[in-house]
Amino acid sequence: TRSIDVRDLTMKYGQATALDHVSLLVEQGEFLAILGPSGCGKSTLLNLIAGLQSAVQGEIYVGEQRIDGLPPQKRGIGFVFQNYALFPNMTVGENVAFGLKIRKAGGAVIDSRVAELLHIVNLQDQAHKKPNQLSGGQQQRVALARALAPKPDILLLDEPLSALDVKIRQHLRNEIKSLQRKLGITTVIVTHDQEEAFELGDRVAVMEQGKIVQIGDPETIYQAP
Ligand code: ADP
Ligand code: ADP
Repeated sequence: TRSIDVRDLTMKYGQATALDHVSLLVEQGEFLAILGPSGCGKSTLLNLIAGLQSAVQGEIYVGEQRIDGLPPQKRGIGFVFQNYALFPNMTVGENVAFGLKIRKAGGAVIDSRVAELLHIVNLQDQAHKKPNQLSGGQQQRVALARALAPKPDILLLDEPLSALDVKIRQHLRNEIKSLQRKLGITTVIVTHDQEEAFELGDRVAVMEQGKIVQIGDPETIYQAP
């Protein structure tokens, strides 16, 4: 697990500025929640850290290493999307194995790691099912297992609970919190849900229109009624 250091990041879509000189330090092992309305630039920020998009300006470090410029799979980052983004034609086990296969891990290593991860997210009996045979909450746990399988330094979560219904959302929120604590992995979640941000984050960063306008402990951040 390592820190994330974002320095002066700017990103534009054509003329429109999606991120406006954003700097952010996430401590090693910290759980940071980024809170802001739809369109404020949350996904863009995560995508830049993960290497799914590139910035027009700025630098990104993980630990001491500069990672902007590296391909996504070389960044040591696990990513979970709002819509799960599982491979529909692969089984649950094959989905979890995917990141290990592209990194050329051996068969025995893959098998034991997949079993370990499915156990961690409580899906040990579902390995041979296809994603569409699972509930939304189960699919998101598969996505979490897939992201964690290659032992990333960093975990990025983009609205991972937004597609789930209320009861499952609360349940999975607790699971994510305790898993993050157990693994001690540096984690950033982006969400438009205030309660979620304050419950999950060691610190909360508030974004508006491409800028981080406030950052601090949940207690020190103003909570609108
Ligand atoms: P969210 O708010 O959950 O991040 P959106 O519904 O805003 O997602 O966007 C969904 C997809 O559409 C994303 O891939 C995003 O990059 C793309 N998108 C968002 N806004 C625009 C836009 N103005 N023009 C083109 N694509 C966009
Ligand atoms: P959030 O995740 O907070 O909803 P995004 O990072 O998805 O915000 O979007 C930030 C801004 O960039 C929004 O104004 C959105 O419409 C715009 N945007 C996002 N993706 C695209 C895209 N592919 N093309 C053009 N504009 C986009």
